[in-house]
Amino acid sequence: MFRNFKMISRVVFGRGCFDQLDDILAEKRKDTGSFMVFLVDDVFSASSLRDRVPVKSRDLLILVNVDEEPKTAYVDDLTHNVRDFSNRLPDGVIGIGGGSTMDLAKAISLMLTNPGSSADYQGWDLIKNPAVYHVGIPTLSGTGAEVSRTTVLSGPEKKLGINSDHTVFDQIVLDPELISGAPANQRFYTGMDCYIHCVESLNGKYLNAFSKSYGEKAIELCREVFLDGGPNSDDKLMMASYFGGMSIAYSQVGVCHALSYGLSFVLGVHHGIGNCIAFDYLDEYYPEGVREFRRMMKKQGIELPRNLVADTDNDKLEKMIDVALVLEPLWENALGSDWKRIMTRDRIKELYQRM
Ligand code: NAD
Ligand code: ZN
Repeated sequence: MFRNFKMISRVVFGRGCFDQLDDILAEKRKDTGSFMVFLVDDVFSASSLRDRVPVKSRDLLILVNVDEEPKTAYVDDLTHNVRDFSNRLPDGVIGIGGGSTMDLAKAISLMLTNPGSSADYQGWDLIKNPAVYHVGIPTLSGTGAEVSRTTVLSGPEKKLGINSDHTVFDQIVLDPELISGAPANQRFYTGMDCYIHCVESLNGKYLNAFSKSYGEKAIELCREVFLDGGPNSDDKLMMASYFGGMSIAYSQVGVCHALSYGLSFVLGVHHGIGNCIAFDYLDEYYPEGVREFRRMMKKQGIELPRNLVADTDNDKLEKMIDVALVLEPLWENALGSDWKRIMTRDRIKELYQRM
């Protein structure tokens, strides 16, 4: 069976297009009693961007904190806040921030219309009811969260996305000006998420012309941004993220992402930097990609943290392995249907212990 996947219904792209948000939302506002919920990364609490968010008097603006990447408990809390605010549903949920904030917006828009805890829906196609209208506005580019059909959450048991057609944003606002102020390190780590998505997708067993077309364009843009330099790099990085996300829509990521999820769940390492840490030890699986990645690091003057796992006790290490092994499609994409024989617990442990 081929997946008949849902795509974003509306996309606006261009420098300064954020200022059209008010008009875009006006069409969705139902009546005088209705309201919108804005989730804004608290890094912008005192910024001009916050002042430009088109909040009306009835709307709710929540500054969200992503020092820790989204957890199911945080999603549940925020969902309660929105329910407490009004006895009706909002007309929309708008996430303004990096992948973490966009994922929070996706998750809350889903949980407002689906009962229980967000942890109940970690997995594939478990969501029953359509979400509230939701909008993604990236302030970092690379994750592809703006186009994907998942919201990645850490729950009590596992780090796993809520993957469903309903997760996909109804609207995205791609304004390259919003990513221009990001710190160079963060920009690189998030940008490398896109690069690594492409390497994993283009070297995967699930590769097909659909994924290849998007992946090749995205990786070319990453090269222009991180190796060549030159003008319009924010515009290019924003489109790279979009194409990278589209590439994995019809394929999968691989070894690096599986290992990075374990690092994140147990050690709290963020996704972008965790990918970079893991990828640097994966020459054996992605030789050319890792070589080029190191050239990009050098060119951008990035030093990776080392020896993060060295002092981790055995229980934690075992948990990291468990988390990585849950991601079966990733392993299968990277190593083929026989992957369990190749990627044993011992082998994963060995890789982790180098990091
Ligand atoms: P992020 O959203 O976690 O943000 C990283 C840091 O950068 C935070 O401290 C944030 O406050 C700050 N920040 C964001 N925008 C900024 C800006 N313009 N200027 C200054 N600081 C800024 O980073 P990310 O790498 O974009 O996202 C990673 C998250 O995305 C993880 O939670 C990961 O699980 C998720 N993710 C989701 C998908 C998906 O398809 N849904 C795919 C990949 C990753
Ligand atoms: Zn990723």
